[in-house]
Amino acid sequence: MPLPSDSPALDTFGRALRSLRISVTDRCNLRCRYCMPLEDYAWLPGEQTLSPEEIARLAEVFTAVGANRVRLTGGEPLLRRELPDIVRRLAANPAIEDLAITTNGVLLAAQAQTLREAGLGRVTVSLDTLRPDRFAVITRRDELDRVLEGIAAARAGGFSPLKLDAVIMRGVNDDELPDLIEFGKRTQAEVRFIEYMDVGGAIEWSPQRVVSRAEILSALAARYGSVTPLAEGGSAPAERFRLPDGTVFGVIASTTTPFCRACDRSRLTADGMWFLCLYATHGVDLRGPLRSGATAAELAAQIAAVWRARADRGAELRLAQRDRGVFVPLEQLRRDPHLEMHTRGG
Ligand code: SAM
Repeated sequence: MPLPSDSPALDTFGRALRSLRISVTDRCNLRCRYCMPLEDYAWLPGEQTLSPEEIARLAEVFTAVGANRVRLTGGEPLLRRELPDIVRRLAANPAIEDLAITTNGVLLAAQAQTLREAGLGRVTVSLDTLRPDRFAVITRRDELDRVLEGIAAARAGGFSPLKLDAVIMRGVNDDELPDLIEFGKRTQAEVRFIEYMDVGGAIEWSPQRVVSRAEILSALAARYGSVTPLAEGGSAPAERFRLPDGTVFGVIASTTTPFCRACDRSRLTADGMWFLCLYATHGVDLRGPLRSGATAAELAAQIAAVWRARADRGAELRLAQRDRGVFVPLEQLRRDPHLEMHTRGG
């Protein structure tokens, strides 16, 4: 029998299974240099993509084992035509206390209202730069205006708190920290600066391109004065800080200051592979048992058993590695698209 969600499965480090990221598609309409720098990829076969009903069924099993937060991601989740249906089904699950999405925002203006009505709770938009020319260089698409319209639509649609995620890369956008903070103030959104990670797909990554948490904080302190950490703890990836005028921002420092010890996240790909860590090289196939008729109790037992054996702490192991270079070479990514960040979701 599934466990009740108030006693979540615990892994070998005592970390609870709580946050589930569901990638609803591996397709994307941008080609960000730090994630999908190539034009074409080996895509997951369409017939293997989980249907909205299958996603909802698996989510129900995950909530029986402890999951209480779901984030929809991709690829670009707004490219999935059935997204409102997926949201509606997940919103109807009372064990999901927080239902959020991470999107690049390009298609958000057209969809924000529908998604709100379907029951989506929160939106995070990825926004690395406010300069159109730079946006085109980073994402290889000239879409900044549509992203800004999307952010405005999300705000108008009542999504709150609205978050903006910016991957900071040395020599690319590290001079825009205050501009992004000011934009966040104007749009009433919380900006989170993400350290450039050497995840699968980041084939241009090098340690020299990483702007560390320490550098981000000192650049903001130089501009605004003191930067005060908020004493929060918990399992959220972002550490939050306050500027003297009360503005709150976050830093996600997975590269230089990993937070594996508090990690309660796992990831389900659009074709039903379950990954216990962003750096995991192997996943657990849940589509197979789901499609061959496994009951909810059988799936819950499998998920709980796998989680209890979890010992992943990929970002910490990467940090301990000397001569750190690209995590997964291009040839290997071509052979196994599940290793790509855009397949397992950020
Ligand atoms: N398409 C959506 C978007 O752009 O937000 C969702 C998928 S994207 C893979 C999710 C998150 O992963 C984004 O915030 C993106 O910036 C982040 N990401 C991708 N590659 C990264 C890298 N190499 N380092 C840090 N963050 C990365």
